[in-house]
Amino acid sequence: MTRKIEHYVGGAHVPGTSGRRGPVYDPSTGEVQAEVDLASAEEVGAAVRIAAGAQRSWRAVSLSRRTEVMFSFRQLVHEHRSELAALVSSEHGKVESDAAGELARGLENVEFACGIAPLLKGGFTEQASTGVDLYSIRQPLGVVAGITPFNFPMMVPLWMIANAIACGNAFVLKPSEKDPSASVRLAELFSAAGLPDGVLNVVHGDKVAVDAILDDPGIAAVSFVGSTAIARHVYERGTAAGKRVQALGGAKNHMVVLPDADVDVAADAAVSAAYGSAGERCMAISVVVAVGSIADPLVDAIAKRLPELRVGPGSDPSAEMGPLVTAEHRDKVASYLAVAADEGASVRVDGRTQELMDAADPRGFYLGASLVDGVRPGMRVYDEEIFGPVLSVVRAGTLDEAIALVNAHPYGNGTAIFTRDGGAVRRFQFEVDCGMVGVNVPIPVPVAYYSFGGWKASLFGDAHMYGPAGVDFYTRTKVVTSRWPEPAASTIDLGFPGTR
Ligand code: NAD
Repeated sequence: MTRKIEHYVGGAHVPGTSGRRGPVYDPSTGEVQAEVDLASAEEVGAAVRIAAGAQRSWRAVSLSRRTEVMFSFRQLVHEHRSELAALVSSEHGKVESDAAGELARGLENVEFACGIAPLLKGGFTEQASTGVDLYSIRQPLGVVAGITPFNFPMMVPLWMIANAIACGNAFVLKPSEKDPSASVRLAELFSAAGLPDGVLNVVHGDKVAVDAILDDPGIAAVSFVGSTAIARHVYERGTAAGKRVQALGGAKNHMVVLPDADVDVAADAAVSAAYGSAGERCMAISVVVAVGSIADPLVDAIAKRLPELRVGPGSDPSAEMGPLVTAEHRDKVASYLAVAADEGASVRVDGRTQELMDAADPRGFYLGASLVDGVRPGMRVYDEEIFGPVLSVVRAGTLDEAIALVNAHPYGNGTAIFTRDGGAVRRFQFEVDCGMVGVNVPIPVPVAYYSFGGWKASLFGDAHMYGPAGVDFYTRTKVVTSRWPEPAASTIDLGFPGTR
């Protein structure tokens, strides 16, 4: 019998009642390994009501107790890290070492939340007016929701839930229906860490559940991470319903390599950042901008490395790159190689050839690493997010041309520059229109005490995610103006309150 993946609401596994389910594949074999319940709007509503009840008590729990729960959760996740990495790998397809890396980066956000107390302090002004003091306090929003993508089933939920819960909110998480088990396991571990029932709920689903979240008046704020088209929809519908929304979208991250860069260092970085997790990372490098004379040696150095990458199942410790998440996605990614050739680019390494995937089960959703040279703006392989192991090379004459390319692209998530020239770096970071910049670092995902977010079509809303921006997003400020007059000094005064 096929395994069922149920919702986790009010501290318990809850079978779905909608009668709708979706398949969860093992991407390395192509088999359906489980079915996930897809929630109806009514099921989402029921979870929100349970979360609201739990939040009323949770917000009254002392900050030190909330912090203690975070510390226990952090310890439990750490103890279960191998099991969690294997779980992510089994449904997503990424190799287990990569899944462990994702978990470690997610855990940084829990560690940040363990130390959240100082960030929840308010301000105090004594004697703003005679005998009058003012102070601000931060309070949680209530019930908040998260909608997450398939590509980081552990890290992206942790970007959201650690801060939201530590701030005193209750959370309804709608993970990707493609790899939903990691979220349920995180919720179980939170329960084991002492989080009261109903503070963290996992509701599985598709568009029906997402739209129910966006419309539910009981949800105060929505954090979304996924593709740009859906991010725009979530932002527009959620804000129209009066919610606070942060919606992170897709990306096309350029790595600019200047002529003075070390070719081998740049090639290693490009290969690691383009093909890690089979390119299914929002911060993956998908375009190398080779400036001037470095182009030919750099393309040769990258091409030489690709046949050596070991493609195989995520559970194989010797595999470096696993399959893609579904057959449909693999076919879509592969279709760009035909389109690129039709549009006049040169497919230097074609990942569709079986020799590049010798360790892979032919039924699995594999695609070898591909390299496309001679790419220009206007080609679909350049303009669109592919989200797979396809790296494009655009050749530019100067640093200015390279910056202009990055800035003209609709996405603005991350970018990187490889050079030994500090002046060039300074100009690049000053002028480039992206939210996150790497200097000789190809995947500049900020540590948890900074915040994460792109610009342009990579982010809808003002708020970046996690870190200090996450605390701002999940709290609202109340200002109290207070007078404790001497009883004898009290008088009636119909004038507008002054401060002098
Ligand atoms: P996706 O947009 O297909 O799905 C994201 C979430 O939206 C899922 O929970 C899904 O169930 C839901 N969803 C899907 N279609 C919907 C619809 N029509 N209406 C309402 N909800 C819908 O994204 P994905 O394929 O799971 O993830 C990959 C995408 O996420 C890529 O575009 C990648 O760049 C992006 N991403 C961005 C970041 C970032 O930080 N900017 C991080 C990770 C992933």
